[in-house]
Amino acid sequence: MLAYTYVEQGKFELREKPIPLLKESTDALVRVTLGSICTSDLHIKHGSVPRAIPGITVGHEMVGIVEKVGSDVTAVRPGDRVTVNVETFCGHCFFCRHGYVNNCISPDGGWALGCRIDGGQAEYVRVPYADQGLNRIPDGVSDEQALFVGDILATGFWAARISEIRAEDTVLIIGAGPTGVCTLLCARLKQPKRIIVCEKSEERADFVRTHYPEVLVTRPEDCVDFVRRHSEHGGADVVLEVAGGADTFQLAWQCARPNAVVTIVAMYDRPQVLPLPDMYGENLTFKTGGVDGCDCAEILRLIAEGRLDTTPLITHRFPLARIEEAYRIFENRLDGVIKVAITQ
Ligand SMILES: [Zn+2]
Ligand SMILES: [Zn+2]
Repeated sequence: MLAYTYVEQGKFELREKPIPLLKESTDALVRVTLGSICTSDLHIKHGSVPRAIPGITVGHEMVGIVEKVGSDVTAVRPGDRVTVNVETFCGHCFFCRHGYVNNCISPDGGWALGCRIDGGQAEYVRVPYADQGLNRIPDGVSDEQALFVGDILATGFWAARISEIRAEDTVLIIGAGPTGVCTLLCARLKQPKRIIVCEKSEERADFVRTHYPEVLVTRPEDCVDFVRRHSEHGGADVVLEVAGGADTFQLAWQCARPNAVVTIVAMYDRPQVLPLPDMYGENLTFKTGGVDGCDCAEILRLIAEGRLDTTPLITHRFPLARIEEAYRIFENRLDGVIKVAITQ
């Protein structure tokens, strides 16, 4: 089969590999019907994910059809259409039992697919702990509708879930890239009074204005003032920082009102400064983390009900055989790209 492979720092290559075999009785083999490229794939390519193993097949956003299951898999059967979770989790350890599946203590726990074990920019993928890692796609939900459930949409859902958003709140979301838009969609489900999005790219700001006209949009340099003018208590009640830029962590807490929740969804390249003397008395609550991707069944239900729709994010489609070109466009943000769907 074809498999897009991490060769060495700076180099991915489409290679011919054998179709994966099941290794454990809890594994499933999935035939990938649609995949995508994530910014985290670029982080691997550029060497900022040291735990990524050269030689692995990359890709951790995909949907497909179950081809084979191990003898201990009970939740899915061959022929089922499924989403694949970016995270591998056992379902039994202390962290899994408490919903902190990102911290699963299994050796393959956390983000392993397409990083430490072979992922899904390929024709087939082996999924460990298939009962946890796969969710059946409801009838009537297309592959494109389900494509982001296991990764960026799970991230947006988790971020909105932990941010304690209430009906009277002004919610600020920093960053309107693909994960920022997913976070916006999930924050909207909580029906806060007002959502403000801060985005520096005019193209991405326009995307938000076009698709979500009720959302207020501002730029980083105007953001502090804009949020003060459009909130009741001197700042946002909830801030979700999704951008991960050089100054966006600072912007996040500067836009928060006293006693606000500031949720850090972004993954930074370098350490960030938490200037406690400057924020003394602000009584801010910071929440950080990697996604606990354990809400995929609920997310799929919301998609089936028409309450979540990420299909506008798919701006480009390429077959796996032309994935090099898809990467070139995604990586260089050419041609208005937001997300690329990789077909077979
Ligand atoms: Zn990702
Ligand atoms: Zn676990």
